Amino acid sequence: MQPQPDERLLLDLLNSTPVVAGEPTDGLSDAAAGRAWLTAHDQPAGEAAWRRVRDARDVLQGVVRGERPADDLAPFLRETAYRAGFAGGRVTWTLEAPTADLAVATAVLAWDALQSTSPGRLRPCANPECRLFLLDRSKPNSARWCSMASCGNRMKARRHYERARTRQDES
Ligand SMILES: [Zn+2]
Repeated sequence: MQPQPDERLLLDLLNSTPVVAGEPTDGLSDAAAGRAWLTAHDQPAGEAAWRRVRDARDVLQGVVRGERPADDLAPFLRETAYRAGFAGGRVTWTLEAPTADLAVATAVLAWDALQSTSPGRLRPCANPECRLFLLDRSKPNSARWCSMASCGNRMKARRHYERARTRQDES
C-alpha cells in the first residue's frame, strides 16, 4: 500500500502566501514561522527544512499557475525513495528522504498524485488579485474561486458594477 497523499499539506503550502488587506504576505517568511508551519503539518521542523519547503512552494506555485515546467520539481525528489516493508500481511511503503526534504517530498508527491487522480482540479483562484489556489472536488469541475464568500462575490460585484457603468456610458 502506498501512503495516502497529503493533500492538506500541499494545499496549505500553495496557500501560504495570501493577500491580506491588499498586501501579499508570506506564512513562511522566517525560520520561526517555518518551524511552526512544519510542526502543524506533522513534519520534522528545522531551519534547513524551512528553507527547502519555501523553495519548493515557490516552484509548486509556478507549476500550478502554468508558468514553469513540472520538471522544475525534480530537484526536490533527488534523494527521495520508498522503502518496502511488510505489516499485517501486506507490503507497506515508507517514504525515505533526508530529514530536511521530507516535507517537500510529501508536497511534490501529493501534487503528482493529484495529476493522476484529479487532473486539472488544482488551480489558481480566478481573481487576479488573489494568490490562493483551490482543489475543485465538485462534479462539474467548474469552481473558479478559492472561496465564493470572498473572491466569488467580490468578482461578481465588480462585474455587475462594470456592466452598470458601461450601460451608463452608453445612455
Ligand atoms: Zn481567491
